[in-house]
Amino acid sequence: MPEGDTVWNTARVLHRALAGARLTGSDFRVPQLATTDLTGWTVRESASRGKHLLLRLAAPADHPGAAHWTLHSHLRMDGAWRAYAPGERWSARPAHLIRVALRAADAVAVGYHLHELALLPTAQEETLVGHLGPDLLGDDWDPAEAVRRLATHPDATIGEALLDQRNLAGVGNLYKCEVLFLRGLSPWTPVGAVPDLAGTVTLAQKLLAANRGRWTQSTTGSLHRGSTSYVYGRRAQPCRRCGTAIRKEELGERVTYWCPRCQPAPT
Ligand SMILES: [Zn+2]
Repeated sequence: MPEGDTVWNTARVLHRALAGARLTGSDFRVPQLATTDLTGWTVRESASRGKHLLLRLAAPADHPGAAHWTLHSHLRMDGAWRAYAPGERWSARPAHLIRVALRAADAVAVGYHLHELALLPTAQEETLVGHLGPDLLGDDWDPAEAVRRLATHPDATIGEALLDQRNLAGVGNLYKCEVLFLRGLSPWTPVGAVPDLAGTVTLAQKLLAANRGRWTQSTTGSLHRGSTSYVYGRRAQPCRRCGTAIRKEELGERVTYWCPRCQPAPT
């Protein structure tokens, strides 16, 4: 599940593969960029903002318009970037899912099933990510600002509010479910009734940060398959704390997992 930590890791993979490199070719397989050719462009850096990926580029000197550009992408549920050595088979996903390939002398970056793929002047990045709340994995992570933003909609359920990237950027469904379990909060609790919002966002940040640098997402401390979460993906299995069957229900546009005993409904 691509959440903030996965996107952060992906940005690092792209940075290691391409930062400083001059592109020797590009192959866009999306209609809006079908005629775009980044040959001769230089990759400055790769960064993430919440769940958005920002590949920052310098155009060649003779390019009309801005000197610095950003290739934006979003992984949503199923997107991925992979870096390959030149000549290595692109084996991560089926070829029909490829949306772009960027070639340099030492590496090829291939983007699969990317969403919101767009090339825009770096000066205009804010039009894509300016609405986001504080980034849990950003250098400028600001828990007080995240709490302030959450508190502006006290009637929203905490389950939906944690997923709203305008409040804080980086939490997806897995971390939402796990944070709420660890805090003993029902996903249906109104934000205004959450006793310690600061503790909740701080825990979310700690869980994401703990999984930075690895692809297995664990909130339990275990990296063994089947024991990496408390409630997420565990419908009908016994709660690790109390043995009650974990439940799964729709909440807003997503499903949520929770333990009805450890996370009692709001009164
Ligand atoms: Zn329980």
